[in-house]
Parts: sequence; C-alpha cells; structure tokens
Amino acid sequence: MPSNRQVTIFRNRLARLREKRRQAKTSNNASRRALTSKQRDLVLQKTDGRCHICGGKVGHKWQADHVSSHAHGGAHAEDNYLAAHALCNNYRWHYLPEELQVVMKLGIWARMQVEKGTPLGMEIAERFVAHERRRESRRVTR
Ligand SMILES: [Zn+2]
Repeated sequence: MPSNRQVTIFRNRLARLREKRRQAKTSNNASRRALTSKQRDLVLQKTDGRCHICGGKVGHKWQADHVSSHAHGGAHAEDNYLAAHALCNNYRWHYLPEELQVVMKLGIWARMQVEKGTPLGMEIAERFVAHERRRESRRVTR
C-alpha cells in the first residue's frame, strides 16, 4: 500500500490540475456560434461518422466537439471540431489532457477492481450503480 504521503501527493496533483484548468479558462464566448449544415457535414466526414472519443457511430444526434477546448481559447472553425456523442463530449468536459488521462487511468483501474470482484471493486460497483440510478431518475425526458 502507498504511504499517506504518496496518496496526498496524488490528491494534490489532481487539485493542481483543476486549478491549472480554471486559470487557463478564457472568456471566448464572442466567437461562439452554430456551425452551418455544410460545416457539420465536413466535420462528420473527418471521422467517417464516428465519435472521435469512443470510436462508435454517432448517428444523427451528435455534437461538434472542440479539439482545442473553446473554454481555453479554441477557435470556432470546422478544422477545430470533431464529431462526438453527447455523452462522450459531456464526460470529456473541458478537462486538460493530463487530467483526462488521469480520469481514464482511474476509470480503467476501478473497472479492473470491479471485474476481479475485490472488496473495493464490489463497493465501487454498488455505489456506481446507485449513482447511475439517481442520475437517471433526475434526467428530464422531453
Ligand atoms: Zn462516443
């Protein structure tokens, strides 16, 4: 097991990354506008109709995701967009690349704990299922 100091270093790293993301955020709302349908077609062609995050087919309901985050000054031009599922895009949020890598590593590690059925994995599974149920029940269906 890692020492408390090592765990504290990891937690502080996450906090530093959050702060770095907050500080990098710019007010970039003036240039934000919808893509034309021709621009959306060009964006969709770049990934052959697939989500650039998970690789699945996006279908008709997809989002044009900023490659260079809009919140961090990314341009509003079709070459800065790729197609993404709304879910994938929402979970990617505007994490810094280093933060997203930590999130993926944590998620894959947690999944292995769940699959192996370790005590921690079983707790993660129970809490995650409960969390997802609460999330689903809060969702507004229109
Ligand atoms: Zn996806």
